[in-house]
Amino acid sequence: MSERIREFLRSRESDGPCVVVDTEIVRENYLAFARSLPDTSVYYAVKANPAPEILSLLEALGSSFDCASVGEIEMVLATGADASRISYGNTIKKERDVARAYEYGVRLFAVDCNEEVDKIARVAPGSRVFCRVLCDGAGAEWPLSRKFGCDPVMAADVLEHAHRLGLVAYGVSFHVGSQQANLGAWDFALEMASGVFHEMQTRGIELKMVNMGGGFPTRYLKDVPGVPSYGEAIFDALKKHFGNRLPSTIIEPGRGMVGNAGIIETEVVLISKKSASDDVRWVYLDIGKFHGLAETMDEAIRYPIRTERDGDQTTPCVLAGPTCDSVDVMYEKTPYELPVSLSIGDKILIEACGAYTTTYSTVGFNGFAPLASYVI
Ligand SMILES: *Cc1c(COP(=O)(O)O)cnc(C)c1O
Repeated sequence: MSERIREFLRSRESDGPCVVVDTEIVRENYLAFARSLPDTSVYYAVKANPAPEILSLLEALGSSFDCASVGEIEMVLATGADASRISYGNTIKKERDVARAYEYGVRLFAVDCNEEVDKIARVAPGSRVFCRVLCDGAGAEWPLSRKFGCDPVMAADVLEHAHRLGLVAYGVSFHVGSQQANLGAWDFALEMASGVFHEMQTRGIELKMVNMGGGFPTRYLKDVPGVPSYGEAIFDALKKHFGNRLPSTIIEPGRGMVGNAGIIETEVVLISKKSASDDVRWVYLDIGKFHGLAETMDEAIRYPIRTERDGDQTTPCVLAGPTCDSVDVMYEKTPYELPVSLSIGDKILIEACGAYTTTYSTVGFNGFAPLASYVI
């Protein structure tokens, strides 16, 4: 944990649960991406954490932005960023939202079917579009599966359709799945992308850009390769599949930009057992799946947890939230080892919580306030 966060938590007045994000760490992450992929533009995936302080910092550092809605576009424009730095990267958009984005000056849109191309041709004429191709997300801890993208053969038809309707068939995108620890995932995806480039060339259409998406991991319990390793693997794969005619490229880190910059402080509300002979303790916190820890769904993301009693003897614990919904259990299949001495009222720190926590918090299920957020 950064000294700045430690100091902030020591001195804050309220004692409810919160997430604290250190912008110094976000800055280091941005610079690591920029250094490791010097010829690639960074489009921060706003959904990971849209706090205004984070967006302003990234705006000042020169980042561009991947937005999924008009709301996110407005948040980015509020930093003073020009609309030319925005990609409307959601493949599922209402036509009137496309029109709104176009009014704001956005000219770069994601598609994965002809029907979406038609909307853009009608209300955002002349814009650049890129087609998302399906990626199976193998190796990712939070895969994005089949909801987005089409197969590469169809992608060529979608891009040709866009070209015929007067749009700029600009390129191809993919997302290898979030928290992707397999460096080879980009190799496979870039091979697919280069296939679409070749096919379009035979149709007389020159694509220009590959959007290599997000997927860059944050360190949770397991070690993950650093950003420079991703940079090397991606650059090698680009050379392998595009030779010396490298396309212009962008990446859209979300988790990798902010994940390790945030820490949640939470309090133990209750520790109990289900029977006298049970050897597993139930530890209930003052936040859970509905107030920031949604990515514990299926126990997919396992956050590092720190207590003031680390070093004492440990015992297996089920970790659950405070609400009256039985799905509000974070870890049960694979319990956590926590100190035997852990007590009701103790503060617990959950690390690497900068991404996908505030935005995944309900507005107030059971009357519990949404996760408080401080950006320092
Ligand atoms: C969510 C998302 C991202 C960010 O993914 P991470 O795995 O958090 O880096 C990037 N691009 C698109 C299109 C997304 O939907």
